Amino acid sequence: MPKIILTGDRPTGRLHVGHYVGSLKRRVELQNSGEYDKIFIMIADAQALTDNADNPAKVRQNIIEVALDYLACGLDPEKVTIFIQSQVPELTELSFYYMNLVTVSRLQRNPTVKNEILMRNFETSIPVGFFTYPISQASDITAFKATTVPVGDDQLPMIEQAREIVRRFNQTYGDTLVEPEAVIPENEICQRLPGTDGKAKMSKSLGNCIYLADSAEELKRKIMNMYTDPNHIKVTDPGTVEGNAVFTYLDAFSRPEHFAKYLPDYESLDALKEHYRRGGLGDVKIKRFLNAVLEEELAPIRERRQELEANHIEEIYEMLRQGSVSAQKVAAQTLAEVKRSMKINYFEDGALMKEHAERNAQE
Ligand code: ATP
Ligand code: MG
Repeated sequence: MPKIILTGDRPTGRLHVGHYVGSLKRRVELQNSGEYDKIFIMIADAQALTDNADNPAKVRQNIIEVALDYLACGLDPEKVTIFIQSQVPELTELSFYYMNLVTVSRLQRNPTVKNEILMRNFETSIPVGFFTYPISQASDITAFKATTVPVGDDQLPMIEQAREIVRRFNQTYGDTLVEPEAVIPENEICQRLPGTDGKAKMSKSLGNCIYLADSAEELKRKIMNMYTDPNHIKVTDPGTVEGNAVFTYLDAFSRPEHFAKYLPDYESLDALKEHYRRGGLGDVKIKRFLNAVLEEELAPIRERRQELEANHIEEIYEMLRQGSVSAQKVAAQTLAEVKRSMKINYFEDGALMKEHAERNAQE
């Protein structure tokens, strides 16, 4: 069976360092590993509209921002197909059939959807499209026969839902769809990077992000304002590392060589944590260190992004158009197989007419 990846992002804003450690960085590694037969990266504009129906301009404008972030991080259109969800209408059609295989109560139990409904203050006015987006995600994954879906841990319930739909479909209509597997980052912190405010998840919708496109000055300002330990007031006070966003980010981003380079008084992150716990280590010092670490990682991305934005916008739009055309062809093939399995391929080789003739001959 071919090894195929599908993954993507909602164009609701620029991508942030949570996306980077949670998914993007891994995608680039997988792309370069040569182990995959096909990689599809989807800009999920239709999904973004499920909770931004009144703001299509936002979704529209962010398509190019997300594409720039992808290319700046090293995704290579020669190796991956980058496409826009709404340009593949087959995905919507698949969703319509999958809807019959999922119950309302099953959707209501989805922990991610539950949490996102709370986050967005929908209360009782939940758009049906938003409520059913796990089904649409199953369509996105199965349309490309994806075996592997690299995501942050908030997406695990979505992949589980997709797997259930695949099993249900195959049981009901015969083997047609491929069951996908989620791949989440090994480093637990990278599975769900908290926001600069210390809240559970860095998220575009919460405004607690460090964006890949942020300038060196913005990066520094955000780090200097980051949430640490609220009880660590004087330098001499003992501090807490757990739940302290600066240390969480150091867990996600710092490597042993960063200490030799930027903070030679400490040989490792453990030594730094130990000093912080004991007292005598100020927040500014650890923030400066984090700034150096992040700047080293983000500066090349930022520079590539600026160069792409200045000189290659036209080519990027053309790349997205072509990617959407080739993704559409693949999805159309899967949809044809799905309809054949469901016996709604009435006019394929005159199927229904032939059956009618056969029935008549038997009578
Ligand atoms: P929105 O607030 O619009 O939902 P988002 O910031 O949650 O935006 P998505 O486009 O929903 O971003 O997520 C895209 C991918 O990035 C998913 O695989 C998701 O798991 C991953 N991801 C998003 N935020 C984080 C984070 N803070 N840490 C790790 N992975 C993340
Ligand atoms: Mg999200």
